[in-house]
Amino acid sequence: MDSSPSTSTTDHDAVTSGANGSGWEYAPAPETTEVRIEPRYGLFVGGRFVASKGRRRMSTLNPANERELASVVQSNAADVDAAVAAARKAFRKWSRTRPIERGKYLFRIARRIQERARELAVLETMDGGKPIRESRDVDVPLVAQHFFHHAGWCDKLRYAIPGNDDPRPLGVCAQVIPWNFPLLMAAWKIAPALACGNTVVIKPAESTSLTALRLAEIFQECELPDGVVNVITGAGETGRLLVEHKGVDKVAFTGSTEVGKMIARSCAGTSKRVTLELGGKSPNIVFADAAIDQAIEGVVSAIWFNQGHVCCAGSRLFLEESIHDEFVRRLEHRMRKLRVGDPLDKNTDVGAINSRDQLEKINQYLEHGIQEGATMVQCCDRPLPESGFWCRPTFFTGVQPTTRIAREEIFGPVLSVMTFRTPEEAVQRANDTPYGLSAGIWTDKGAKVFELSSRLKAGVVWCNTFNKFDAASPFGGYKESGWGREGGRHGLAAYLA
Ligand code: NAD
Ligand code: MN
Repeated sequence: MDSSPSTSTTDHDAVTSGANGSGWEYAPAPETTEVRIEPRYGLFVGGRFVASKGRRRMSTLNPANERELASVVQSNAADVDAAVAAARKAFRKWSRTRPIERGKYLFRIARRIQERARELAVLETMDGGKPIRESRDVDVPLVAQHFFHHAGWCDKLRYAIPGNDDPRPLGVCAQVIPWNFPLLMAAWKIAPALACGNTVVIKPAESTSLTALRLAEIFQECELPDGVVNVITGAGETGRLLVEHKGVDKVAFTGSTEVGKMIARSCAGTSKRVTLELGGKSPNIVFADAAIDQAIEGVVSAIWFNQGHVCCAGSRLFLEESIHDEFVRRLEHRMRKLRVGDPLDKNTDVGAINSRDQLEKINQYLEHGIQEGATMVQCCDRPLPESGFWCRPTFFTGVQPTTRIAREEIFGPVLSVMTFRTPEEAVQRANDTPYGLSAGIWTDKGAKVFELSSRLKAGVVWCNTFNKFDAASPFGGYKESGWGREGGRHGLAAYLA
């Protein structure tokens, strides 16, 4: 850190419950969780926290109250150079480190993430606005799981790619990640890169830098060799400098389709390998024969999980016509029970919108929806906090397939409801999108699942569930949702030659 006194924040609500189905939690719950936040952060380069070579800084807010949490660096070209040079230097040793030794580091990191899980969850919630129940039960356990999973791969890489008995690392990886799952996206990117013997320069999103910097502390504690992972903060310009840097061998990006296309253009004609995880407008298809109560819960978590800031969110709901009215009535009833508010309260279902910009973008879509003639239904009557960025869970009925709310990624808690008559029509409508990240099918009939899932142009198809993630299962998109896969064996291939 490049400055002295530390502020401390105590969280009372986040700590009482430990209920969890994921099986990856470890730390016993302390009475309260102390989270230290420095007023100013530097960069993590070459194994040390260092000052920027420039002067530009930016603040990161708590979106639930608009208060500044800390000031972080806007890295300039010299900072990017230094980070890439540190990663290059580290690559010489790390790529030759015995695979089983690399695995030990990753196991150690995974354990330390579990030990510091509470703190990471609270910090993630404060900096990004997601409900503590999600950061505690979903994000952080999956972060640890990704390091455990990839730790086990380190000495088994010759089995990762059929036909390649001697896979080699690529070199220095430039990784740029978004603000919706800050720590989880860092783990998705860093763990496979390291397992394969690469080194990393990673840039978190401008509104959510703090957990990536905290992860850097964990790397230090685990004595990960200097320069194997470097964390530089900054906004889009820093990201551009990093992915365009000549010393980079591989670019991994998660974020908007717009920026993804710019990165694809800038890497074209270079020897850089590129993977892109971009936007989505994923269909969630409910048949009349589905278990309706389960389907309602599935629709709720498909669109209102993480305020809808989810690239694979089930944001287009297709209902079989015969159940439309009944389903919508029950969905509204269920939606009205969602609790919107303080992300640190363990009873909160829907937290704060990540930034003012994102809130404005979502509000514009709400207006488009009304102007396009759809009917808007919103929860709830309870007042929202006075400061902070908030959007009530929303769905639109009577949505025409050609309208903006049916076609464009809103990236907020807003669902567009449409109908279909036959399985054929469901597939056709579901695939009628420039995206192809995920899809959901709700039905009692196994044959329908098999028939439809092979015809849906989506990287992940969930059946009678939604938004479930696992380090062993590949994730990625068709069409404008991106290039390549992350996770599992397929994800390793993106970090090996
Ligand atoms: P973004 O794509 O601009 O930002 C994602 C990351 O890319 C951030 O770290 C950002 O600093 C960086 N970045 C921005 N411009 C860059 C450039 N030219 N070169 C390299 N890196 C660059 O996304 P946003 O502006 O934060 O959000 C806009 C929209 O993108 C959202 O409303 C949503 O629709 C979509 N989005 C999708 C995902 C996803 O996971 N698919 C994540 C975030 C945002
Ligand atoms: Mn923030």
